[in-house]
Amino acid sequence: MLRQGLRNCIRQFCSNGSEKTPPAGSFRSPWKILKEEFQAVQQGQPLPTELPVPREVDILVVGGGLIGSAVAYWVKQRHPKGVSLMVLEKDMSYTRASSTLSAGGLRHQFSMSENVELSMFCTDFLQNIKEHLSVLDQDPPSVPFNHQGYLFLVPPHKVEQCLKNHALQTELGAKIELLTRDRLKEKFPWLNLDGVELGTYGLEGEGWFDPYCLLQAFRQKNQSLGVRYVTGELTEFDFREERSMMGSESNTHKILDSAVIKGKDGKTYETRFAVVINCAGAWAGDVARKAMIGLGPGDLATPLPVEPRKRFVYAIHCPDGPGVASPMTIDSTLTYYRQDGYGGHYICGCSPTEENEPCTDDLEVNYDYFHDNVWPSLASRVPKFECLKLKSAWAGFYDYNTFDQNLIIGNHPYHRNMIFANGLSGHGVQHATGVGRAVMELIIDNDFKTIDLSRLGFERLIYKTPVFEQCIV
Ligand SMILES: Cc1cc2nc3c(=O)[nH]c(=O)nc-3n(C[C@H](O)[C@H](O)[C@H](O)COP(=O)(O)OP(=O)(O)OC[C@H]3O[C@@H](n4cnc5c(N)ncnc54)[C@H](O)[C@@H]3O)c2cc1C
Repeated sequence: MLRQGLRNCIRQFCSNGSEKTPPAGSFRSPWKILKEEFQAVQQGQPLPTELPVPREVDILVVGGGLIGSAVAYWVKQRHPKGVSLMVLEKDMSYTRASSTLSAGGLRHQFSMSENVELSMFCTDFLQNIKEHLSVLDQDPPSVPFNHQGYLFLVPPHKVEQCLKNHALQTELGAKIELLTRDRLKEKFPWLNLDGVELGTYGLEGEGWFDPYCLLQAFRQKNQSLGVRYVTGELTEFDFREERSMMGSESNTHKILDSAVIKGKDGKTYETRFAVVINCAGAWAGDVARKAMIGLGPGDLATPLPVEPRKRFVYAIHCPDGPGVASPMTIDSTLTYYRQDGYGGHYICGCSPTEENEPCTDDLEVNYDYFHDNVWPSLASRVPKFECLKLKSAWAGFYDYNTFDQNLIIGNHPYHRNMIFANGLSGHGVQHATGVGRAVMELIIDNDFKTIDLSRLGFERLIYKTPVFEQCIV
């Protein structure tokens, strides 16, 4: 951490990064900083409170979506005064952020204990949201959470895995009911059960919530805790060099020192930090490359395998559809649907095969994909959907981990001051709250304290030991 005294000096005398001020990345003694900053203030440059981008913070969070905002919340909630934290977000309207384009699903039905526990924590958090995110003198946060549950339809060849998952989920306290075909028919009479052997249905704590409302609630709380949200894009990192001796050999280590930022006024700023958290969602791989991750020798040779993968969500109207008792239903083909409000409105979709991944240059929707893939699959499972109207659609990017489609969390082995919270591949909104808390524990306690996520570190990429989650949708 940067020393408090130095931070206070900088707060008092900081300039706006004029040309006279050397870049934050090059070493300057505290006295030199004081002298320069004092001269800047004498020359009439703005006080730190007026600066669009701070010169120096303890923690820089790159990406202000749900993961970045959850990290900021947990750190500042634990240490409201002791740490300066800035969230850098290139688009405060979140038009392309996955958090606001997601389907908002929350399920406890995963195959890995870490993922079950992260989801269960999200349920708990949402149920106690007023306690966590209320702000004095403001209306308490309201995040609509529909507790309709998830229903997975299981084909014969997946029954064994499903029973294993169910045993684990039950052991961890999740309330998931196993349903035979007869029970499925009785409970969900609108389903055609061809090719289905079993169903698993979430009785408690599963459903879907509004991720946009959750993001806004986090932001409001964070701002009340002193988190600074800054509009700007991280364009590069600056490094400083540190020499160490290994026996008689001298080694040079490049340390991540500051972020070069393109501000919303088009100007370039530089912010020095002690720790940087990569919360850039689908763009996390790019942010890692700016730190030479994947482009250097040794531990820097392994890239962060996270890239955008486009997913379509289709909004349909079917007044005679399955109705209000219908859960978020995941077919054995992985086509899903759920209600979207009342009055026969639903959303649905299906991830494409690896060979048919759509291009990621834009967020255009492929309507043929609905007609050729999603609708036939939907209608064969729920015959009532044979007659429906496609009302609208949108596309968003999964923050897709091409290695094992799972969370990557923890420090980079070379850049110890870069922490990842990436690669959630389609289950990030429900895990954001728990991932944020886990990152806070790493920073403050130097270890995971609540949910042990140590299997999900960057090292597994280097040692090529994937950790596969079996319930990816
Ligand atoms: C169609 C769809 C449906 C989904 N459904 C679900 C679901 O049902 N349940 C679920 O749990 N998850 C779901 N997800 C996944 C979930 O949305 C993501 O895993 C999650 O939102 C990731 O959160 P994030 O904060 O990391 O990313 P984001 O919300 O994308 O935030 C990252 C932010 O980083 C910013 N950024 C990137 N690079 C820079 C830079 N260089 N400088 C400054 N800022 C930068 C971006 O502007 C962005 O706002 C879905 C995703 C999609 C696309």
